[in-house]
Amino acid sequence: MSKRSVSTATVLFSPGNGGATPGDVTMLGGKGANLCAMAGLDAPVPPGLVLPAGLCAAVLSNGGHLNESTRTELQKGLAQLEEHVGRKFGAERDPLLLALRSSPPDSIPGLMDTVLNLGLTEAGAAALGKQAGDERVGWDAYRRLVQNFSVQVLGVPRTGFDDLLHEKLEAEGAEGDDELSADALQGLAQVFRDHSRQVTGTDWSDEPLGQLERAVEAGFAAWNGPITRNYRYEQGLERLPGTALVLQAMAQGTWQAQSGAGRYSTRVPGTGEAKPHGQFLTTALCTDLTAGLRMTDPVTKLEKELPEVYQELQGWAERLERHFRDAQEIYFVVERGKLALLHNRPAPRTARASLHIALELEEAGICDDKRALCLVQPQVIDEFLHPVLDKTNAPAPLAKGLPASPGSAVGQVVFFAEHAVELANQGVSTILIRHETSPEDIDGLKVSVGIVTAHGGLTSHAAVVARGMGKCCVVGAGDLSINYLVNEMNVGDQVIKRLDWVSIDGTTGEIYKGQLPQVQPTLEGGMVKVLDWADKYRKLGVYANADTPTDAQHAVENGAGGIGLCRTEHMFFEIDRIPQFRKMILAKDEVGRSAALSELLPLQRRDFMEIFRVMDGRPVTIRLLDPPLNEFLPKGIRSQTRMARTMGISVEAIQARVEALGENNPMMGHRGCRLAVTYPEIYNMQVRAIVEAACIVKKEGVVVHPEIMVPLVSTARELSVLRGEIEVLVKGVMAEMNEELPIRIGTMIETPRAAVVSRAIALHADFYSFGTNDLTQMSYAFSRDDAGVFLPLYLERHILDEDPFVALDQQGTGRLVEIAVKEGREVNPELKLGICGEHGGEPTSVKFFHRVGLDYVSCSPFRVPVARLAAGQAAVEERRN
Ligand code: PEP
Ligand code: MG
Repeated sequence: MSKRSVSTATVLFSPGNGGATPGDVTMLGGKGANLCAMAGLDAPVPPGLVLPAGLCAAVLSNGGHLNESTRTELQKGLAQLEEHVGRKFGAERDPLLLALRSSPPDSIPGLMDTVLNLGLTEAGAAALGKQAGDERVGWDAYRRLVQNFSVQVLGVPRTGFDDLLHEKLEAEGAEGDDELSADALQGLAQVFRDHSRQVTGTDWSDEPLGQLERAVEAGFAAWNGPITRNYRYEQGLERLPGTALVLQAMAQGTWQAQSGAGRYSTRVPGTGEAKPHGQFLTTALCTDLTAGLRMTDPVTKLEKELPEVYQELQGWAERLERHFRDAQEIYFVVERGKLALLHNRPAPRTARASLHIALELEEAGICDDKRALCLVQPQVIDEFLHPVLDKTNAPAPLAKGLPASPGSAVGQVVFFAEHAVELANQGVSTILIRHETSPEDIDGLKVSVGIVTAHGGLTSHAAVVARGMGKCCVVGAGDLSINYLVNEMNVGDQVIKRLDWVSIDGTTGEIYKGQLPQVQPTLEGGMVKVLDWADKYRKLGVYANADTPTDAQHAVENGAGGIGLCRTEHMFFEIDRIPQFRKMILAKDEVGRSAALSELLPLQRRDFMEIFRVMDGRPVTIRLLDPPLNEFLPKGIRSQTRMARTMGISVEAIQARVEALGENNPMMGHRGCRLAVTYPEIYNMQVRAIVEAACIVKKEGVVVHPEIMVPLVSTARELSVLRGEIEVLVKGVMAEMNEELPIRIGTMIETPRAAVVSRAIALHADFYSFGTNDLTQMSYAFSRDDAGVFLPLYLERHILDEDPFVALDQQGTGRLVEIAVKEGREVNPELKLGICGEHGGEPTSVKFFHRVGLDYVSCSPFRVPVARLAAGQAAVEERRN
C-alpha cells in the first residue's frame, strides 16, 4: 500500500500489499483503513482504491466537482488498479467492475449508499453472462447498476424501483430475485432504465468513466448534505476534512451455484459469547441481506454447505479479531466457491455483551486493560445495578413515558403518597402514580418501589428524587389520565384502579399492566474489574449528590470521592423538621423566623455531623437553601387541612400564605441566594449548623472538609456580599468552638449570566459547581417541569437528537461551561471546578467535562459507577488521541 495517505492521491489496496499506518482513519475512513490493514495481512479482499478524505476536501472546495487535478488523481489510481488486476474498466469483455462505498472516519448518517457494478455497459452485461456461462449474472449486475446509480447519484426515489421489481416478480411467478431468468433480468434492466429516464428526463446512456466520476462526486457531496452536516456539527466533527470513498473490484455472489453474500460476527450480539453469528443468502450480494426480499439463513449453514469456505472465513475472523483487538463483523461474498472479504467493522453488541467481550479479550491477552475499558458501554452498569423486566411473554405496553431512572419495578398502584405509606407499612409493594410529584410527596416516594408521573420532564421533581434514591421511575407518560377523586386512571380505553398491578421499566419508559417477572443482575466480579481499570486511569474526580447519611454511605460504597452536592432542603422535609420549617415560613417577622430556625439548628447540625462522619477525609459540599419557600407548603386542601390541624392554626391562614408565596414560574423566582438576601437568618442558621458540626466531629478525630455552596448566583456582587456575611459567621463560630479548620466557600454556576461573567465571580469563589439542570433550563428556556409535554415530539421529529436534560448540550449549554471554566481559571487559577447537575452521571457529558478540564463530576450515588467508567474511558481516549 502506498503511504501517501494525507494527500489527494488514491491508495491502492490488494492482498499482501502494505498496511494502514496509524492515524489513517481520518484520511482513509474506517472502511478504507480496515481494508488496507486486511490487505496487509494478506486477507482475501478484492483489490481496490481508497479515495482519501483529502480528495473529498479538494472536490468540495471546487463546488463538488472534479477538476483537472482531482480527475487526474482518480484516473491515475484507476490505471494503477487496472494494471494490478489485469482488467480494463468499462471494457466490453471481462471488464473491471467496481463497487463504490462511503468510508467516513466514524459512523456518520446521511452518506451515500453503495453503488454496485460501476464500469458495466449493456454490451458488457451480455458479454459477462456469455463468457461466464450464466447470462443471469450479467443482467443482474446491470439492473443493479441502473438502480443504484439512479437512486444514489441521480436522486430517483428508491420506492419506484422496488415497485417495479415486485411487479416483475409477480409477472414471472417468482418468489425472489434469485429465481428470475436471464431474460426477465434483462427486461427488468430495461424497465429500470425507462423509469430512470421518466423521472430524470434524461436518457440512460452507458458511459462508464462519466458514471464513475459522477458517482464519486455524489459520494463526496453527501459530506455536505443536510443530515451529515448537521450531525457533524452536533458531534463536534467539523474539523474532519471529509469522507473517504472506497472503490473495490466486484465479487459477484449472484451465481446460482456456490455463491452468495453474508455477514459473520465473531460474537453473539446479545450476550457477547464467542460463537459465530450472522446471516447468509445464496445467489446474492451484501446489499440484499437487509433488503428484506428474501429470508436469510444463519451463517453457520455454510459449515455444512461450503465447509472449506466456512473454515477459511472462520480462520480470518479469528485472526482479524486479534489484529483489531475487538470483536469483528465481516461482510463477505462467495463467488463460485471463492471467499472474498468486502469489509469489516467492530461487531454490533448490546451493552451487556460489550462487558463480556471486553473481559474475555483482556483475559485472552488480545487487548490490554485500557483498550478493554474503552470497549465497555457505560449503560451496562445500569443493567447490573438494577433488576430488569423479563418481557418474553409481556403484553404490549400500556403506555410509554420518559425513562427517568433505570431498572424496573412491579407493584400495586396508588395515587396518593399517604396511601403508599399506609400500604408499605403492611408490606405491600406500591407504585406511586401522580400527575406530578412535589416535595410533600417525599414519604410516598421513599416507600414506593417505583414512581410514575403523567407530567414532567427528566429533571422534574419525581425524576431527580427517584434517581437520587436509585428507584425506578417513568415521567411524562402523557397518555395517563388520572382521576384522583375516584382513585383510578384511564389509559386509552383501559381503566387502572388503585391496587391493580403494574410493571414499569425505567430504562425504556414503558408501563405494563400486570406483574412481569424481574431478573436480578449478576456478573458483579467483572464489573468490579472494569471499574478498577477506570479508577486506575481516570483524572476526573467522581463525587455524589447525597443529602442524608444513608445516601452518603451508598456514595462511599459506590466509590464516590466526596459529596459534590448536599441539597439541604431535603433535610427540611423530614417528618421531624417540616413543622418547624413551616412555622418559620408562616412567622410574621424576623423574630418569629429566628425562633423557628433555632429549633431546626440542632437537627440540621446533627445531619451534618453524621454526614461528615461517613465521609471522613472526603470533601462535602453543602448547598445552602435553594428552592422557593412555597414548595414547603402543602398545595391540596387535604394536606392543608392536615397541616392546619397539626399546627393548631386555621386552613385559611395557610392558604393565605400559600397564595402570598405563589409564583407563576417558581424556577425563575424567589429562590437560591435571593432567599438569603431577603431572609438572611435562614443561611445564618445553616452556616452555623455546618461549622458547629464540623468543629464537633473534628474534635472526635474525623477529618472534615466542608465546602459551603451558594446557589443560583448571577452577579458577582450577590456572591461577594453573601460571602462576606458567611465568612464573618464562620470565623465567629470557630472562635466560639475554639477550633480552626479550612472551609471553602463557592457557588453554583447555573444561570447563563453567571457563566459569562465568570471572570468577576471567580474572584469571590473558592470553587464552582455547575448546576447544569438549571443551566440547561435557562439556556434553552425549557422549564424543567413542563418540557416533558413537548420534548418527546422534539425527539421524535429529530429537532433534537437527545433530551438536553439527560445528555448535556455541548454546543450551547456546554459552551457556557467552557467560557466559565476558561475565564474563571484565568483570574483564579486555584478555582476548584465541578458539576453537580444530572449530567454528572451521563457518560457522554462526563467525557465532555473531562475535556473541558473540570476537577470532578457529582451525580446520584447510584450513578457513581457509570461516571467512574466514563471518566476512565475519557482519560484513555484522550491519551490515545
Ligand atoms: C442544578 O441546577 O443542576 C442543580 C444541581 O440544582 P437543582 O437540581 O437542585 O436545581
Ligand atoms: Mg439548580
